[in-house]
Amino acid sequence: MIDKKMLEFDREHLWHPYTSMTEPLPVYAVKSAHGVFIELENGQPLIDGMSSWWCAVHGYNHPVLNKAVEDQLQKMSHVMFGGLTHAPAVRLARRLVDMAPEGLSKIFYCDSGSVAVEVAIKMALQYKQALGQYKRTKLATIRGGYHGDTWHAMSVCDPVGGMHSLYAGRLPVQFFAARPECRFGEEWRESDIVSMAQLLEEHSEEIAAVILEPIVQGAGGMWFYHPEYLRQLRALCDQYDVLLIADEIATGFWRTGRRFACDWAGIAPDIMCVGKAITGGYMSFAAVMATDHVARTISEHAPGVFMHGPTFMGNPLACAVADSSLELLSDPELPNRIAAIQSILNEELLPAKRLVGVADVRVLGAIGVLEMHEPVDMAAMQRRFVEEGIWVRPFGRLVYIMPPYIITPDQLRRLCRAMLRVVAE
Ligand code: PMP
Repeated sequence: MIDKKMLEFDREHLWHPYTSMTEPLPVYAVKSAHGVFIELENGQPLIDGMSSWWCAVHGYNHPVLNKAVEDQLQKMSHVMFGGLTHAPAVRLARRLVDMAPEGLSKIFYCDSGSVAVEVAIKMALQYKQALGQYKRTKLATIRGGYHGDTWHAMSVCDPVGGMHSLYAGRLPVQFFAARPECRFGEEWRESDIVSMAQLLEEHSEEIAAVILEPIVQGAGGMWFYHPEYLRQLRALCDQYDVLLIADEIATGFWRTGRRFACDWAGIAPDIMCVGKAITGGYMSFAAVMATDHVARTISEHAPGVFMHGPTFMGNPLACAVADSSLELLSDPELPNRIAAIQSILNEELLPAKRLVGVADVRVLGAIGVLEMHEPVDMAAMQRRFVEEGIWVRPFGRLVYIMPPYIITPDQLRRLCRAMLRVVAE
């Protein structure tokens, strides 16, 4: 039970994401969460539209995932991964290798999405160093991306929407190509790849890797682009001897309607980051997958090892729950469930295009986005959503949902309709 005093303590002492310590945005106290519902301290259930930022794909308090944690807890919650290994780590690795795009057979476990991005970048830089390509120290990416809040991850976030100006002069400077403008589902336009092609033609001698979110750019703008962009980028990376890093932290594990968003283009990156849904939202955990060639090149050149090894690497509790989460995700019925979510999102949300204030509506897989003309008043809108019994957290001009995959058609329609009622106001 969280009482008024505790909430006051929270307000006084606890930093919440992207908020002021002196004028924090309001927070709602949660008592528990079950299935698709988040239950507030006052007993009010909210239909969850966010999957706790893409991760709670199986819903909350899932019996299979609970059991995985409880069983593992009886054996060991943690041992160091240096010099030791365990069954949950190996089982999970087998599943990841089986699931991932062709060739990604080497796995590095780490603690969070941002750390996975740092690890992927270090791999790319160390790979180029191993090959004696010492000038290839930079990264290229597309505008509108988001890759996390740690230092190098931040350097490849959108330079305008990200925090580049705040840290100008200190953040590493990377190369940015234009955001792909050709939408998912539209006819492909060759002009879309020109900016990236020119960038690589002019600067590839300085570039170790291109990093991007495949198909769906998340926190940088919830933008869905054409799979042909990825196919052509894959070819350009090969042509210019640049590695391709796919950040599938948000898009992975069926969120876009395919196992991985790269599958829409039928391409395999050289390095891929996965996180978020991997543990079904039970704990912070991520993995970086690399090709045998990348791993071998790093390992066969001085210093002969990959220089990274976090304390909680391969945490057994996280590996055990991730193994069970991936087992749930291999249900052959899952693709149909995502397709059903997509068609309800289309039915319920596309009519919102007619609402005053709505600039665009887009849906892909289990993601539905309303883009407004003007930034929304987050606190006021959030309060209305809660009054309507739903949990949706807008940001900037975006009001969007990516619900848990277990949501029923009826719950999903209630979520969408409540969201539109508030937006229409
Ligand atoms: N990459 C992408 C595409 C993300 O969406 C996020 C998180 N929103 C991250 C990286 C960072 O992950 P984490 O918050 O777990 O550090």
